[in-house]
Amino acid sequence: MARVVITGGAGFIGSHLSERFLAQGHEVIAVDNLLTGDRDNIAHLFENSRFTFLEQDITNYIYVSGPLDAILHFASPASPVDYLELPIQTLKVGSLGTHKALGLAKEKNARILVASTSEVYGDPQIHPQTEDYWGNVNPIGPRGVYDEAKRFLEAMTMAYHTHHGVQTRIARIFNTYGPRMRMRDGRVVPNFICQALRGEDMTVYGDGSQTRSFCFVSDLVEGLTRLLWSDETQPVNLGNPAEMTIERFAERIKALSKSGSKIVYRELPVDDPKVRQPDISKAKRVLGWEPEVELDQGLESTIAYFASKLEAAA
Ligand code: UDP
Repeated sequence: MARVVITGGAGFIGSHLSERFLAQGHEVIAVDNLLTGDRDNIAHLFENSRFTFLEQDITNYIYVSGPLDAILHFASPASPVDYLELPIQTLKVGSLGTHKALGLAKEKNARILVASTSEVYGDPQIHPQTEDYWGNVNPIGPRGVYDEAKRFLEAMTMAYHTHHGVQTRIARIFNTYGPRMRMRDGRVVPNFICQALRGEDMTVYGDGSQTRSFCFVSDLVEGLTRLLWSDETQPVNLGNPAEMTIERFAERIKALSKSGSKIVYRELPVDDPKVRQPDISKAKRVLGWEPEVELDQGLESTIAYFASKLEAAA
């Protein structure tokens, strides 16, 4: 069994990863500074003797004693609203935090998987996006702090691989959703679902013709696990290619939550990508992976999660 560090282990994806690795019998050390992570996401894991939580800001240091087999580097704010509020922290965790995580991997002779993103493609000029596309990113726009930090993360990771021989893996993660997203993180899934459940107006930005492709978190976690233990050192897209417009997405959530909310239109954020859809041929070929959870099924369990959160808050 492996001994694994998960940075951002109390976050949305990090907590699901922690759960999956524990279920597979591994030892998990979750590291998080709880800036956008939440102790509630991992509260149920504390009773497991193979689980440890370290409250640390990984931009300063990562201190973990004993041997390590693998590191999953998932610490970062992940919502455009968060990057606007935490621009410097977003840049620091993607750059300095990644440097610390890679340094730990080198020191412990552990393999490391780093969380990159479809945002490295920016507002893409090729569609769907393949891994050989270099992207179209505005370095000084509001999203630049995340996009460029993640591009630096990829460059730093490749350098540790080629220069230090560290076993590295790079996942380019597309829009992912599911239970444990933060209610107020400002992303489209928590926004639409909470608005629909409260009967508030559902805020479509722009005319809603921009597209996204949504992957349920359990599918993503399966892809990440396969990538970690594979031999692939080049970036791999992980996401669900089922693409839809944001307007259609709002209608779907409204219907599934049996909501009487009105759909309203608000200003489109600066540099909001017009389209986004992963080409996952490589993940299929190299990892034998593709998503299995249908959108309605994933949305229903996410709606149930937010309904219980709203009830608890009331
Ligand atoms: N969006 C929206 N209403 C909201 C929140 C987001 O229409 O209340 C749109 C946003 O402009 C973008 C898409 O939904 O086009 C996905 O936004 P999100 O913040 O989830 O992440 P992104 O994919 O842009 O990184």
